[in-house]
Formats: sequence, structure tokens, C-alpha cells
Amino acid sequence: MTQHPAHPAPPFLSARAQRLRQQGYKLTHARLTVLRVLEQCGGHITSAELVDRVSHIDESVGRASVFRALDLFTRLSLVRPTYIGTSSTPTYVLLPDGHHHHIICTRCSKVIEFEDCGLAPLKKNLEERLHVQLSGHLLEFYGLCPECMRLPVDDASVADD
Ligand SMILES: [Zn+2]
Ligand SMILES: [Zn+2]
Ligand SMILES: [Zn+2]
Repeated sequence: MTQHPAHPAPPFLSARAQRLRQQGYKLTHARLTVLRVLEQCGGHITSAELVDRVSHIDESVGRASVFRALDLFTRLSLVRPTYIGTSSTPTYVLLPDGHHHHIICTRCSKVIEFEDCGLAPLKKNLEERLHVQLSGHLLEFYGLCPECMRLPVDDASVADD
């Protein structure tokens, strides 16, 4: 006869949640809920959207708790705020493995993601040269996407004299 365990299995903890715990942070309900929403949406979300989605899941997690969790995650380089286009409202992005990369089209504002950046040697170099400890980076290139490259040059934006 197999005995049923006295307690239900602990809820699934993502790698990020485990990292938080390993670094000595308590996995409070608010922190876990905020992290879950960030992970479910892929991590491109404004703080207002985040507050909204968290309150849909659990209205006991208030706005202040969401902002405190977001501050903590930002300090730990789990997320970074980014200002895409002319927006003055930051969008929070997850930094999987401590980094996140965008190519932003300056014409249509499309964001292209890519994984590999090859910046590990630069990180090492900076740490040695400047005596710093780096926990992550957010890299953004600006230029034209393939569709916009095919479009004719926009006369209005080109000086013609
Ligand atoms: Zn474009
Ligand atoms: Zn992104
Ligand atoms: Zn990178």
C-alpha cells in the first residue's frame, strides 16, 4: 500500500523562483504571483498591465506589492525596464539567463528578438578592467527590418536640398 503524502506536492517552481530562493529571498505569494504572470506573458509588459493581470488572478495582491516585487526583480536582473519607441512608459522584459536582445525597426517599430549575442568575452573584459560584477544586460540594435528595407525611401523624412 502506498501512503498518500501528508502534504500536497509543493507547487511547481520555475528556475527563476528557485534562483530567488537560493539567493535567500522568501517566495511570498505576491512575488510568486507576479513572477508567474511575467513568465506567462513572456515578459513584455508594462507595470499597469502587470497590476491588472495580477489582480485578475488574485485580487489580494495589491498594486504596492506588485511594484515591490517588480523593484526586487529589477535589482536582481530578472527583469529590466525598456523604453521602446517614443513610449515614456517602460515595458518590463524578462532577462532569460541574464540577457535579452532586441533589434528595433526605426521605421515600423517592429521588435525582433534574438538569443545569442556573443557578449560573454566583453562582460569578462569589463569585469576585469573596471572591477565590477555584472549580472545581466539588455541590448538593443536600431535599424530597418526586412519589410521596411524593401519600401521606397520616405521623401518626407529625407532632406532634399
Ligand atoms: Zn520595419
Ligand atoms: Zn524582448
Ligand atoms: Zn546577451
